[in-house]
Amino acid sequence: MRFREQIGEALAELEGLGLLRRPRRVSGPQGPEIEVDGRRVLCFCSNNYLGLADHPELARAARGEDGFGAAASRLITGSMDAHHETEEALAAFVRAPTAALFANGYAANVGSVQALVGAGDQVFSDALNHASLIDGCRLSRAQVHVYRHRDLDHLEQLLRQHATEAGRALIVTDSLFSMDGVFAPIEALAELAHQHGAGLMIDEAHSLGVFGPEGSGVCAAMGVVPDALVGTLGKSFGGAGAFVAGSHEIVSVIRNQARSYVFSTAPPPPVVRAAGRAIDLVRAASEERAALLAHSARLREELNQLGFEVPPGTSQIIPILIGDKARAMRLSASLFDRGVFVQGIRPPTVAPGTSRLRLTPMASHSDDHLDRALAAFAALAPTG
Ligand code: PMP
Repeated sequence: MRFREQIGEALAELEGLGLLRRPRRVSGPQGPEIEVDGRRVLCFCSNNYLGLADHPELARAARGEDGFGAAASRLITGSMDAHHETEEALAAFVRAPTAALFANGYAANVGSVQALVGAGDQVFSDALNHASLIDGCRLSRAQVHVYRHRDLDHLEQLLRQHATEAGRALIVTDSLFSMDGVFAPIEALAELAHQHGAGLMIDEAHSLGVFGPEGSGVCAAMGVVPDALVGTLGKSFGGAGAFVAGSHEIVSVIRNQARSYVFSTAPPPPVVRAAGRAIDLVRAASEERAALLAHSARLREELNQLGFEVPPGTSQIIPILIGDKARAMRLSASLFDRGVFVQGIRPPTVAPGTSRLRLTPMASHSDDHLDRALAAFAALAPTG
C-alpha cells in the first residue's frame, strides 16, 4: 500500500499548498458564452481567438470519405491524403518550403527540439518559454542555457560562451509569450542566431491567425524566416494539432528523429481536413482580427483605469497581475459568480509570486459582452 499512500500524500500536499486543480465541465460548443458546470457564463479565457472552434464549415470539412482514424503512425499507414494536403497548405500559409503535422503543439515542440539538438549540442531557451519547449530541451540531452526573458545581452553572452563549441547551437522561443502577452524580439534573435551560427526555432502558437499578413504570424510580419516555425491548430484555427515548417532538410530530420512524430498515431483525418479548411477561414478573417485587437485594447485600457495591474502590451493575451495565488483564485471565483469566466493562473504555470488572471477576448465577443465583463471587474476592482 506504500505507493498509494505516497500518492495520497502528494495530493494532500498539493491541496494544502492551494495548488490542486480540477477540470471544469463545459457543456455544448465553445463560443463567447458557454455553459460551465451547469452555468451560462461569458468566456474570457479560451484560445479560440477568432471564434472558429464551433464554426459549421469546420465541422462540415471534417466529414470526408476517408473514415475516422489514421490507423498507425505517419511512417506506417498514417500518411493519408488529408495529411499531405494540409501540410502543403500550411507550408504555403507560412511561406515555408514544407511542413510536418503533429497531433498537438506539445508534441510538435517536444519532438522538434529533441530532433534538432542532442547530446553535445547547445540549446538557448527564453526563461518564459512554454512548458513544451522546456520539455523538448530536457528530452534532447543538449546542454540547456536559459536566458533571462527577452534579454538579448544575456543571450549574446551565453552564445559567446557556448555556441563556439563543437556541435549545434539552437535558440528556441515563443513568438508571443502565452502567459504574458508580449512578443519576443524576433528580428534581433534572428540576427544573433546568424552571427553565432545558431539555428532559430520559433513557436507561433498564439500569434498565428492573429498577427502578420492574413494571420500568417509574427515572423512573416517581420520578414524573418526561422529554421523551424511551429504553429498550433487548436487556438486561432479552432481545432487540434500542430505543425513545424521549415526547409526540406530540417523537416526531414524532424520526420525521422522526433520521437513524438515517429512513435505516435497520426492525427485523425477529419481533424486534419478541418485544419486544412481552417487555413482559408483564418486567412479571410481580417475583420475578426481587427475586432479581436480592438477588444483587447479596450479591455487593457479600462482594466487599468479600474486599478488592475495590466502590463503594457498590444496582443490579445491580457495578464492581470495579482501575485498571491490564493488571491488570484479568489478573484477568478468572484468573477465566475458574476457570470464571467477568467481562469486564474498559478504555479507551476507561472513563477511563484506572479499568479494572475489571463484574460483573452474573442473576435466573436460583442461590445455588450465586454460591457458585462468590465462591470464584473468594476465590482471587484482594487480601487473601485
Ligand atoms: N506552445 C505554446 C506557446 C502554447 O501556449 C501551447 C498550449 N497552450 C502549446 C505550444 C501546446 O499546444 P497544444 O495545446 O496544441 O498542445
